[in-house]
Amino acid sequence: MPKYIFCTGGVVSSVGKGVTAAAIGRLLKARGLKVAIQKLDPYLNVDPGTMSPYQHGEVFVTVDGAETDLDLGHYERFTDENLDHTCNVTSGQIYAEVINKERRGDYLGGTIQVIPHITNEIKRRIALVGKKDSEPDVVIVEVGGTVGDIESQPFLEAIRQMRADVGRENTLYVHVTFLPHIGATGELKTKPTQHSVRELRGIGIQPQIIIPRTDHPVSQDLIDKIALFCDVDKEAVIPLETTNNIYDVPLVLEDAGLGDYVVEQLGLKAQAPDLTEWRAWVEKMGALETSVRIAIVGKYVELHDAYMSVKEALSHSAVFHNHKLEIEWVYSGDLEKDRCWDVLETVSGIVVPGGFGYRGVEGKILAAHFARTRQIPYLGLCLGMQVMSVEFARNVLGLEDANSTEYDTGCEHPVIDLMPDQHSVTNLGGTMRLGVYPCALKLGSKAAEAFGTDMVSERHRHRFEFNNAYREQFEAAGAEFSGLSPDGHLVEVLEITDHPFMMGSQFHPEFQSRPNRPHPLFRDFIGAAIQHQQQAATPDADDTTAEAGEA
Ligand code: GLN
Repeated sequence: MPKYIFCTGGVVSSVGKGVTAAAIGRLLKARGLKVAIQKLDPYLNVDPGTMSPYQHGEVFVTVDGAETDLDLGHYERFTDENLDHTCNVTSGQIYAEVINKERRGDYLGGTIQVIPHITNEIKRRIALVGKKDSEPDVVIVEVGGTVGDIESQPFLEAIRQMRADVGRENTLYVHVTFLPHIGATGELKTKPTQHSVRELRGIGIQPQIIIPRTDHPVSQDLIDKIALFCDVDKEAVIPLETTNNIYDVPLVLEDAGLGDYVVEQLGLKAQAPDLTEWRAWVEKMGALETSVRIAIVGKYVELHDAYMSVKEALSHSAVFHNHKLEIEWVYSGDLEKDRCWDVLETVSGIVVPGGFGYRGVEGKILAAHFARTRQIPYLGLCLGMQVMSVEFARNVLGLEDANSTEYDTGCEHPVIDLMPDQHSVTNLGGTMRLGVYPCALKLGSKAAEAFGTDMVSERHRHRFEFNNAYREQFEAAGAEFSGLSPDGHLVEVLEITDHPFMMGSQFHPEFQSRPNRPHPLFRDFIGAAIQHQQQAATPDADDTTAEAGEA
């Protein structure tokens, strides 16, 4: 049976509870333990797939096709484990399951209540985590929201009960809080943390570890005070000061003794921690001097969380090439109004990420045009591949009315069209083409060269696809379908041959990039961007010189 670590949040949300849970996972993995992480989300949506990115940020897609919270992306990147649909549970799923059972008559004669029916279903879901292959040694469960929220109460009650169910020695409660800073006196205040712990105790949970997040250094006095008032060991109060690199978090926590404390409290049979590779990577990241500047041309650019995995995948690849990543966030709607082109003039690569809905799409098509005609490296992710197709159809093939039927059902040239199995879909939740599918790569293409193999499997989340009726015309004009579903029916990767690097994938490579293993398409895109930057710096240099510079 696994041991359980429960992470709750106090005082305010958005203080990095997800990254903290992910970092604890990394510390345990570094000790040779098998770890799985689960997020419990208190909202009533069944999953975040139907929510606006403004509400929720990115929807992270698991291998088995679950649309999940973006924290799962952190968990995967930090622990280097693929998670599955059991790793994100929402109140919506819990209630739907219980109500379905009630309708079926499973509880005949009974009154259905939050305790025990809802809490039992929560505990059943917690028990399912990571069971697919071999049992994990430790399951980390992060409870979304902040202690005190009405909607997270059943989750807190369920994790409280688990202490009795699986044994006190097999559970550990970690509370992540926030220390506000009073500018006038230059003080950090612990009172909100004390109140939050009191609230948690009122529910019956005594946290054993407190991680106060802060933007300022925390003195030993303050640590002692939190320990005293909140009744935890002094060494179990581990402040986490804001870092400008989230990958630093496991190291900060390790150096403060968190890993050893967790192992001791849970009586885990662990090896000595090995964070050598992680530490070397973080140090390398901190020492980088030259930047590569990339534009992300999207629709939700004010909220960077909406593109979390894209941002991280770009950063993994930049570090691989010994460059700092500088992102220019460009709202595609601005390009439509003839704004922000000066920003695009300054970048060495353009990414058009995924998206839904017509707002800003024409701007993305303009960005693809700019990248193609100016020979600027371009990476299109899902919608980014679709707009690249529309641009090519309109401007190279001269099919002026080309479009995706997502935006213009009656267009004359639907180069992107609804997938046949989507025609009968009426419910919008969880019905896209989701999760991992195989993709056969064409020998000699840039995609095959990047992956170094002819068959890959990548994660998807889309309803529309390239319309095969246009394949021949595209190929004749210099487009290459370098990735196809193994039966040849679905276009997975599109490249423009007469271009240093213009590629679009129907899948989302960003979900599979890891700090130590940048995704091959992102890696080669950034490589091409750096080469573009070097060529721009020495405009007279021919290709040979640029290549020598790159080496
Ligand atoms: N809206 C497009 C589709 O459904 C693209 C989806 C995406 O970018 N994830 O096919």
